[in-house]
Amino acid sequence: MSVIPYTDIQSLYINGRYQKPLSNAFEKVDNPATEEVIGHAPVAGLDDARTAIAAAREAFDHGPWPRMTMKERCAAMLRFRDALLRHEQDIRSLLLAEVGSTHLLLNGPQFGGVIQAIERCVELAERIRPEPTDVVVTPSIIDPSGAGTLGGGVTMSDPYGVVAGISPYNFPLLVSMTKIAPALVVGNCLVLKPSPFTPFSTLMLGKIADEAGLPPGVLNIITGGAEVGGLLCTDPRVDLVSFTGSDAVGKAVAAASAQTLKQVHLELGGKSALIVREDADVFSAAALASYGFTVHAGQGCAILSRFIVHNSIRKDFVEAMRTVLANIKVGNPAEFDTVVGPLISAAAREKAEYFTDRGQTDGAKLVFGGRRPAHLERGYFFEPTLFDDVDNRSMLAQQEVFGPVGAVIGYDDDDQAVALANASAYGLSGGIQSRDKVRAFEMAKQLRTGDVRINGGTGGLYLPGPFGGYKQSGVGREFGPQWLDTYMLKKSIQYPVG
Ligand code: NAD
Repeated sequence: MSVIPYTDIQSLYINGRYQKPLSNAFEKVDNPATEEVIGHAPVAGLDDARTAIAAAREAFDHGPWPRMTMKERCAAMLRFRDALLRHEQDIRSLLLAEVGSTHLLLNGPQFGGVIQAIERCVELAERIRPEPTDVVVTPSIIDPSGAGTLGGGVTMSDPYGVVAGISPYNFPLLVSMTKIAPALVVGNCLVLKPSPFTPFSTLMLGKIADEAGLPPGVLNIITGGAEVGGLLCTDPRVDLVSFTGSDAVGKAVAAASAQTLKQVHLELGGKSALIVREDADVFSAAALASYGFTVHAGQGCAILSRFIVHNSIRKDFVEAMRTVLANIKVGNPAEFDTVVGPLISAAAREKAEYFTDRGQTDGAKLVFGGRRPAHLERGYFFEPTLFDDVDNRSMLAQQEVFGPVGAVIGYDDDDQAVALANASAYGLSGGIQSRDKVRAFEMAKQLRTGDVRINGGTGGLYLPGPFGGYKQSGVGREFGPQWLDTYMLKKSIQYPVG
């Protein structure tokens, strides 16, 4: 077996250099497609986390990074991008082995999205200017009939200070970069903690930071699980926590961060609905739905996995989905034509199995899949699994599986479709398939979700628009024109005029 790039990293990246973990702890990391061990990663302990926070604090309070011009920081971030591009093949090999990512996703968000994210943040940073505010006359409080003061000002943007970034396993590099790029470009210093499932694809960024010439302490990368994550939320030296992960952990992060009134940014899970109207092109809607909920084996926060389908076309839609699903290749992501790779762990596969059993117990009709693929002896694979006749109140329709399990729910009119889509504790994403684009637009406005993709939207990651959740799918927005505002504090400077 060839050695996977970067899996020899045995240290955490703190204060501009790789350091052995004070914890002296290491844990094996599996390839989820083969169950082979790809390496043993360092596991940070609380003392490592404290050292990383101290390094970030020192870099922010006394180091050059926040004091550089925006132009200098933008140049450094572009050097960071260039270093990533120089190592693209190695990074792809790592993401394939560590995350089980298919080539389809490596061509898209897993690697391409990372580069786009940096470029977008640089573009936005270059536009930041002090914003003049209104000139007003304030009457004298001593002599209201006398001359007032003519005054105005500017609004400035300051970095928060020390940011803690906590990321999930499914898009480890992309999600880490959606924290690194906006936080660093405006002058913050960062402590980043990836998921315990994907330590190497974040730890390797230390080498990238060295090549880009980032000053020590600007980017610190530690590992570990809930305990280390919890410390990042409670330590008073951290100013902002940017978390991406499940809603359950998001709530713990918000509660822990409240102790020191930290700002929190939360990008959480979803159970997003695709409404298929009676006038939709049934086959293209079924193809979009089938690829959509199975891509990355269903391990996507914004995946559309509840199909709310007009009853007049539901039978044809389900048949078309069955045909598409039968032709989707499930297998080792190392093979170029694989669409559905493995789940991240045996536990994640058990969760998909549990939901499949529960769907049947709750009276839904299993129309495709439902088992481990017979042709794959190793790896945490699960067949694309589709249910029809799902009750929107059932567990299968209400909870995030984070596996390739989809649910079809029938409806009879547009209002009912919108009501069903909105009957969810989540509100991350949504979609509408219809030939009537005006009607689809009107319905999109009624959906209580952070984004809605009409007829497939732009077909991929869309950084010009904001992304984030309504309801329990999150707090705050990333991407879009105001992306950098998440990582900045506004300051009003006022002075007399004239
Ligand atoms: P998770 O919530 O289990 O873990 C996320 C991170 O939180 C990990 O780094 C984990 O170690 C850390 N963590 C665990 N307990 C913690 C605690 N008490 N305090 C602080 N940190 C803690 O999520 P996961 O299983 O890695 O990822 C899947 C979830 O992420 C899904 O719910 C998915 O929808 C969500 N997600 C959301 C987005 C988005 O942008 N909205 C993107 C990707 C994934």
